Amino acid sequence: MPESSLTPENTRGNDEGGVLDSMLSNPFFSHLDPAMVAELAKRSEMRDFAPGADLLREGESGDAAYVVHAGTVTVSVRVQDNAVEVAERGAGAFMGEISLLCEVPHTASVTAKTAVRALRISRANFWSVMSADSQVLLSIIRILGRRLYETTVPLAYLSFTASALLDDTFDPKILADIKMRKDEIGRFTGIFESMATYVSERTRHLEAVVEERTRHLNQEIARREGLEDELRQLANTDALTGATNRRHFLELCDKELQRARRYGRPMALLMMDIDHFKRINDTHGHALGDEVLKRLVETCQADLRGQDVLGRLGGEEFAVVMPECTLDAAETVAERLRRTLAALAVPAAGARVNFTVSIGVVDWAPDRSLEATLERADKAMYAAKSGGRNRVVRG
Ligand code: GH3
Ligand code: MG
Ligand code: MG
Repeated sequence: MPESSLTPENTRGNDEGGVLDSMLSNPFFSHLDPAMVAELAKRSEMRDFAPGADLLREGESGDAAYVVHAGTVTVSVRVQDNAVEVAERGAGAFMGEISLLCEVPHTASVTAKTAVRALRISRANFWSVMSADSQVLLSIIRILGRRLYETTVPLAYLSFTASALLDDTFDPKILADIKMRKDEIGRFTGIFESMATYVSERTRHLEAVVEERTRHLNQEIARREGLEDELRQLANTDALTGATNRRHFLELCDKELQRARRYGRPMALLMMDIDHFKRINDTHGHALGDEVLKRLVETCQADLRGQDVLGRLGGEEFAVVMPECTLDAAETVAERLRRTLAALAVPAAGARVNFTVSIGVVDWAPDRSLEATLERADKAMYAAKSGGRNRVVRG
């Protein structure tokens, strides 16, 4: 029903309880002629609201505003079907004034938090009383100015904080003082700070996830590297005896030879062949032959130094490269190995098998290639064979 501009709405009388004081406590009315404010109060209707009742609803076009006289109201806006409380107001609050003045829908809902008494000021009465005083224009400008400030300042904080987040320079301390303010800026800043803190915590969480995945990845890389090492080891090792295989032995031997040559260091090489190995196979079987080969390697490796390398050149023929070892020292080692191996008894079905080896020992010479060195060792070893076997011969 349209309101007549001169019809007083007050049916119960609203000057009781100091409603004028409530109005004059608001900066909008406090600058106006009190008699005029009293006239407006007189024409307006006092209404009671139970807790939870709406005074104003967001989105509805308002033809009235309220001055809270008693109790507390909350201001809330809807965000994706959730009512988000943005402010709380008590006696003297002038609610819905922007809709009243500018004829725009309410931008927020105002709801009674406690039992509320509020003076309903209709647009018709407002203008019919207020247009008499030019001071009202200043009050309106003040209201709009404050609104602009309340919007602009939080937006400035918003963009400042957002860019700090993006630059990774966000520090919650920056907002600490501002959020202590009791107004909407303080409230907004508090909410925004929680948001920013959440974003940086989320970032930290994601970083931790990435770190964890990187750790897993590194573990996997280490595992694969381990496998690669194992494969390389397998590729370089003789499967039966565990000695270095021929190909890898020749590589290592070449390296040691070059090193000895470059630095003029001693280096020696042994060539070793089992005597009458064919007979062992023929008499005790191939499996026992294999066992003999394994025990030979085991025994030599236990006796040799860490830097010496034992290689299986093929069949029952082995070689040892001995860095930093003179020919004399190598001969001593060869003799010791020969004796140790000769004393070894390999258990066989119903018997213990003994065997001997023939060894050729050489050292390096400046004009001697790897092939020539090996050949020289081979010759020495054959000299040991033809000399009666189970002996060491220097090449
Ligand atoms: P010599 O004293 O002159 O060296 O005589 P030998 O019998 O040791 O030499 P020969 O070259 O006649 O025989 C070597 C034998 O070694 C022949 C071959 O079957 C055997 N043999 C080679 N590789 C293996 C192996 O992996 N396992 C076994 N059980 N026997 C092998
Ligand atoms: Mg042999
Ligand atoms: Mg042989």
